[in-house]
Amino acid sequence: MSGLKVVVAGAGGRMGAAVIAAIAATPGLVLHAALDRHDSPGSGKDAGQLAGLLPLAIPVTSDSEAALAGADALIDFTAPAVSVHFAELAAPRGLVHVIGTTGFTPEEDWSIAKAGQAGARIVKSGNFSLGVNVLAGLVQQASKMLADYDIEIVEMHHNRKVDAPSGTALLLGQAAAEGRNVDLATHSVRVRDGHTGARVNGTIGFASLRGGTVVGEHTVLLAGPSERIELTHRAENRSIFAHGALHAAVWANRQPPGLYGMADVLGFAE
Ligand code: NAD
Repeated sequence: MSGLKVVVAGAGGRMGAAVIAAIAATPGLVLHAALDRHDSPGSGKDAGQLAGLLPLAIPVTSDSEAALAGADALIDFTAPAVSVHFAELAAPRGLVHVIGTTGFTPEEDWSIAKAGQAGARIVKSGNFSLGVNVLAGLVQQASKMLADYDIEIVEMHHNRKVDAPSGTALLLGQAAAEGRNVDLATHSVRVRDGHTGARVNGTIGFASLRGGTVVGEHTVLLAGPSERIELTHRAENRSIFAHGALHAAVWANRQPPGLYGMADVLGFAE
């Protein structure tokens, strides 16, 4: 069958299922293989059925070498160490590697950047939705225009999420930092507890809420004297991330090796 041959990593996960369903709904894309841990509950099961579709006769496997043979692209919503490992497998094969995983350490980010120099076409983003990437542009602009306002970023996710702040909150924080022309790492306040003293001017604060089945909600507050602006995005289901990741894979298939972000894919990068 012709079309872009896509491998889904983390096929038994929440995002994996959404990506498999989105591939089935997108002409020009073919599910080539489905990967998950050998001891995951989905291992050996039919990838289509796991995604709530009719059977696709593609069992979920942990054999990444076999899964990647003959593939064009790998869509990866797994865990940081796993994505680093897949980046090392994707580079020598010249694959498109779309990384949606969040919660990387700076060292892991560096390993992925290295894979982008070694042959892979990587698109990595803390959020693949169009709306959040537009929001990032608005946040950058507002942070610049309201240079003295206090910036706080509040996010809420379901009770199974393992990293905080969310990758999207950090993406929005980065946009705010760029609007202010400051380094996010040295200007962010990730936790407040006890006698913290007054808020330090120019910092970007984060707060994380966890509960229920919330897919993802983010608000960036810009608080000034006697007024505040709240810029909010609410994800209603995971299909927005899945379709964005597939759009990124099709785009990256036409690009030279390198590490790209969603702003490149959407043409928002300067
Ligand atoms: P999940 O726990 O439901 O799924 C993760 C899957 O990865 C599981 O099935 C797990 O078994 C699998 N996995 C673990 N080790 C593996 C390995 N070695 N090989 C193959 N598969 C392996 O989590 P989720 O909600 O689907 O989220 C996954 C990641 O995607 C998280 O980091 C989350 O924050 C992120 N995420 C990103 C976006 C975005 O737009 N960038 C959107 C939603 C979620």
